[in-house]
Parts: sequence; structure tokens; C-alpha cells
Amino acid sequence: MSEPTVFTRILNGDIPGEIVAESERVFAITDINPQAAVHVLVIPKTERYRDVAELAAGDPSLLAEVITMAHDVAREKAGGEFRLIFNTGAAAGQTVFHVHAHVLAGNLEEKTLV
Ligand code: 5GP
Repeated sequence: MSEPTVFTRILNGDIPGEIVAESERVFAITDINPQAAVHVLVIPKTERYRDVAELAAGDPSLLAEVITMAHDVAREKAGGEFRLIFNTGAAAGQTVFHVHAHVLAGNLEEKTLV
């Protein structure tokens, strides 16, 4: 077995993290290094999918749950409008290979890239 990802460790309470939403299959945490007024990561609880391409192919309804939670968080924290980013692959900036959506909201005048 490989080591749990940083997100699983937060979910399990093994390291600190602010969980802002949770459902049966998905959870959301505030990013430790925020790039916008609201910067939340929405993450399937399973580590099975490394990136959004794998998730879309393997469990499209789980991807839909991720997007729905992103909207819910953005509605609660910033009026419901948001930018959604999935870094996919190291060359695209992905550093944690446990699929996660970056939800950016609030003061988005600039085209922030995570
Ligand atoms: P990626 O670069 O894989 O698209 O995004 C990984 C994100 O996870 C980064 O935005 C980074 O700031 C965030 N991150 C990394 N380690 C931690 C941590 O221990 N706690 C939290 N809350 N976020 C983290």
C-alpha cells in the first residue's frame, strides 16, 4: 500500500486542515496557500483517481458531485460565481496526484492561475 495522500490525511484528521463541506463521497478544504479570496479544494474521498481525466472516465457521476459541491461552496462563500481548475499532470502544475478541483471565487478581476 502506498502512503495516504495529504488530502486523505486531512480527511482522517491525521494532519490539520479546515474541512468546509463534506458529503458521502466528496469533501472540501481551504487551500493552505490561497490564490484568491476564496480558494477551496473539492476532493473525492477515494484516492483511486489521480486526475480529472481518470475521474471522468471512471466515475462521471462522482465528477458531477465534485462540481456540485464546488458550486455549493462558491454560493455559500462568494455569491455562487466561481472559477474551477483541475491541474492535470506535473507539466500542468499538478503536485498532488489525488484528483481535486480548485475553486476560486471573490476578487477574480485578474486571471489567476493556480
Ligand atoms: P495541485 O498543484 O496539485 O493542483 O494543487 C495542490 C494544492 O494543494 C495546492 O494549491 C496546495 O497549496 C494545496 N496543499 C498542499 N498541501 C496542503 C496541505 O497540507 N493543506 C492544505 N489545506 N492544502 C494543501
